[in-house]
Amino acid sequence: MSEPLESDPSLLVVILDVNGWAWTQSPLTIDNALQQMIIFINAYLALKPENKLVVLASNKRECKCLYPADRNQAPIERDIRIYEQFRVVDATVLSGVQAMLSDAAATMIEGEEDEEGQTLMSRALSKALCHIHRVEAESSAAVKVWSRILVISAADDSPREYIALMNTIFAAQRMGVLIDICKVSGKSDSVFLQQAAEITGGNYLKVDTTRGGGESMLQTLMFTCLADHYTREVLVSPTSETIDFRATCFCHKRIVDIGFVCSVCLSIFCELTPVCSTCQTKFSFRVARADSAAPHQAVNGSLKQSPKPAAATAAMSTLTLS
Ligand SMILES: [Zn+2]
Ligand SMILES: [Zn+2]
Repeated sequence: MSEPLESDPSLLVVILDVNGWAWTQSPLTIDNALQQMIIFINAYLALKPENKLVVLASNKRECKCLYPADRNQAPIERDIRIYEQFRVVDATVLSGVQAMLSDAAATMIEGEEDEEGQTLMSRALSKALCHIHRVEAESSAAVKVWSRILVISAADDSPREYIALMNTIFAAQRMGVLIDICKVSGKSDSVFLQQAAEITGGNYLKVDTTRGGGESMLQTLMFTCLADHYTREVLVSPTSETIDFRATCFCHKRIVDIGFVCSVCLSIFCELTPVCSTCQTKFSFRVARADSAAPHQAVNGSLKQSPKPAAATAAMSTLTLS
C-alpha cells in the first residue's frame, strides 16, 4: 500500500449511536452530543474541499444513512448566511436523527419494551465499509482516498454481535481503514470497540462527560480524530494502557476470561464440548483417555465433571492440531 500524501483527500464515515435508552443513562444529552458532532464535521469539511463525508445512525433496530441524503428527500431551504455544504449536512443529519428517535419512541409506545441498551454496531460498521468500498472504487486511480470511521458510541456491547463485529473489524484492517471510537456513555469500556481501535490502528477515547458540562467531547474529537492518515504519522496519539482482549463464547454469548477454541473454525466455548456447534467437528479424546484417570467420562462427553479438565484440554488441542 502506498504512503499517504499531504494532498490526498479523506473519506470520513461517522457512525452515531442513536439508542435513546443508552443516552438517557449518560450525563451528556444526545442534543448536546449532536451539536458537538456537527461542529466537528464542519471542521473536517473545512479542512480540505475534496474531503468526503458519510454519516450513519444506528440504534437497536435499524441503521440508516443520513448523509449523503436520499435523492427523493425534499430539498432544504437556502440560507445565504451559512456556507452551503455546512447547511446541507447540518440540516440533513439533524432531521434524520430526529426522525429515527421519534420512530423508536413510537415503536416503544406500541408496547414493545426496549430495556436493553445495545446497538447494531456490526451492521453499521458493515454499511460503513460498503460506502468506503464504493467511494474508493469510483475515485480515479491517480488520487488515493484515505478512509476512516468514527464511532460515537453510547450503548453497551452486545455479546451476540461478537462474531459479526470481529469479521467487520478484520475486514476494515485489510482495507486499511482506521476505526476511531469515541465512547460517551455506557456502564464500562466497550471491550469489542476497544479491540476495533487497536486492531485497525485507530484511537479509543472515553469522554469524561462529568467534567466541563460535556464540552470535552468536542475537544477530544478535534484533538485526536480530525487528523488524517498523513498527519497521524507525525502525531503522538493517546494510547490505552489496558486493552481488554477478552472474547465472547459462541455457546452462551458471554464474555469469558478462559475459553476453549475449536482448532478447525476457531469458535470459542466457555466449557469443553465433544462436538463443535459451529463446524460440527467431533473432537477425539483418545490421548486424554491415556492420560486421564477417568476415561469413560471423557469419551461419553460429560467433560464438565472430569477430575482433570486441564489434561483433557491439552489432549484436545494436541489431537485436533495433528
Ligand atoms: Zn458459553
Ligand atoms: Zn469448529
